[in-house]
Amino acid sequence: MEGKLIYRGKEIKFNLTYKKVRRIYLRIKYPDKIFITCSRRVPLNDIYSFLERKGDWILKGLERYEKMPHFEETLKNFDDGEELLLLGKMLKIQNVASQKFFIDFDDQFLYIHRSDKRGIKKRFEEWQREFGKVVINELTKQNFKKFEKLDFKICFPSVTLKSMKARWGSCNYKKGEIKINKVLMKVEKPLIDFVLCHEIAHLVYPCHDKNFYNLLTAILPDWRERKKVLNFKYFTLLED
Ligand SMILES: [Zn+2]
Repeated sequence: MEGKLIYRGKEIKFNLTYKKVRRIYLRIKYPDKIFITCSRRVPLNDIYSFLERKGDWILKGLERYEKMPHFEETLKNFDDGEELLLLGKMLKIQNVASQKFFIDFDDQFLYIHRSDKRGIKKRFEEWQREFGKVVINELTKQNFKKFEKLDFKICFPSVTLKSMKARWGSCNYKKGEIKINKVLMKVEKPLIDFVLCHEIAHLVYPCHDKNFYNLLTAILPDWRERKKVLNFKYFTLLED
C-alpha cells in the first residue's frame, strides 16, 4: 500500500509491503521512493512514528541526492552531439570521416572515425568491451599492488566486466574470480577503485566482518566517501 507523511513541511511518500520479518525495514530508492517492509502485526501508527523518527535521516538523504549532479545519456543513433558517459565524463559524439574505423576521445568528445554508418552499434560495443578490459586490467593491477604492499598472500584475481542488475561487483574468493558491473565504465576511476578494493579484500576476508572493514580502511582510507558518491551520484545505473 501507499502512504504519505508530512515531516518538517515536506511530504514523504512511502510504499508499504508486508512480509514475515521481525523489524521494520526502510529503504530509499532515489530520487524519491521510500520502501517500508514489516510484519502485518505492526500497527499503522507504529509505522508512522517509525518514519517520524527516521524523518531527518530520510530528508538528509533526499537532499544529498538532489545536490549531486545527475547525468542522462542521449546516445541513440551515434549522431553528432549525442551524449554518453565514460569514466565520469559526459562526452559528445563527434563523427569523423575516415577510411579506417577507430574510436578515441578527449575530455569533451568521443570521436568515431568511420567511412559510413553500417554496423556502428556493434562496432561501438566491440570497442567498449575492449576498452573496458584495458581499463579494468590496469586498475586491478594498481589496486592489487596496495594489497601486496601490506603483505597479504593472495593470488592475482581474474576480473571480468559483466552485466549485473543490483550490485557493483561480486567476488568468488574460492575461485579467485571477481566480477565487476560493466556500468562502472561510466563512473570516475576512483569510484571503480573503491569497488575493486572491496572485492579484492574479499579474497582475504570473505565476510563483511570487522577484519574485512579494517583491511579495506587500511587500503583505501576514504572508501566510505567514495561509496557515498557512487551510490548517490550513480544510483540510477543500478536497476532492481
Ligand atoms: Zn562485499
